[in-house]
Amino acid sequence: MCPLEQRLNAVRHRLALAETEAGRKPGSVRLLAVSKTQPARILAAAYGLGQRHFGENYLQEALEKQARLAHFEITWHFIGPIQSNKTRAIAQHFHWVHSVDRLKVAQRLSEQRPAHLPPLNICLQVNISGESSKSGVAPDELAALAQQIAALPHLRLRGLMAIPAASPDPEQQRRPLARLRECYLALQAGFGLDTLSMGMSDDLAAAVAEGSTLVRIGTAIFGARKP
Ligand SMILES: *Cc1c(COP(=O)(O)O)cnc(C)c1O
Repeated sequence: MCPLEQRLNAVRHRLALAETEAGRKPGSVRLLAVSKTQPARILAAAYGLGQRHFGENYLQEALEKQARLAHFEITWHFIGPIQSNKTRAIAQHFHWVHSVDRLKVAQRLSEQRPAHLPPLNICLQVNISGESSKSGVAPDELAALAQQIAALPHLRLRGLMAIPAASPDPEQQRRPLARLRECYLALQAGFGLDTLSMGMSDDLAAAVAEGSTLVRIGTAIFGARKP
């Protein structure tokens, strides 16, 4: 077995275990492979092992890989910071965007979504750690933003996403995840949300225990990224 296959299997195993331990239905949490900085051939290898959802942070890099992998049925998720001048290409080339945190960007994505494509799936990025340097909408501004974004014609609001401050301690990890879940539950029924995008290589199990429906895993699948 090649290292990629070993790591992917290990992550699938961790995910299944976390689901069982949390009393969640097996297979109910989607695994998003975060493939930033990985070359297209590695994504192709993961695809060969059954991985279908890939997350990318850097637009130019993602577009190059998408062109090389156009013959595969990949669902592409944009998870990186969004500059306004990049919205057109994102609207054209992705199925999901997890990192929307302001109305202007959402309006542009909606306007620029090609008419022949289904609505672009959107998660709002929430700043749950409360650090001003981090991107994400503040929890107390979330409902108003969701209201505005849900009204945009070519977007479909699916859920919330957050990148909590890293902590090696499982108890510390759970607090911000629990906070995001609270935000999610407050909006879920009203907006018909079905996606809670949280959990990375180091807090996968904690995220699943707190109700994540999609974990974004890079390092644990692909190995350490080159700086
Ligand atoms: C890089 C990244 C991940 C994956 O992080 P790992 O710790 O490598 O699993 C998840 N989400 C976002 C938004 C990222 O930028």
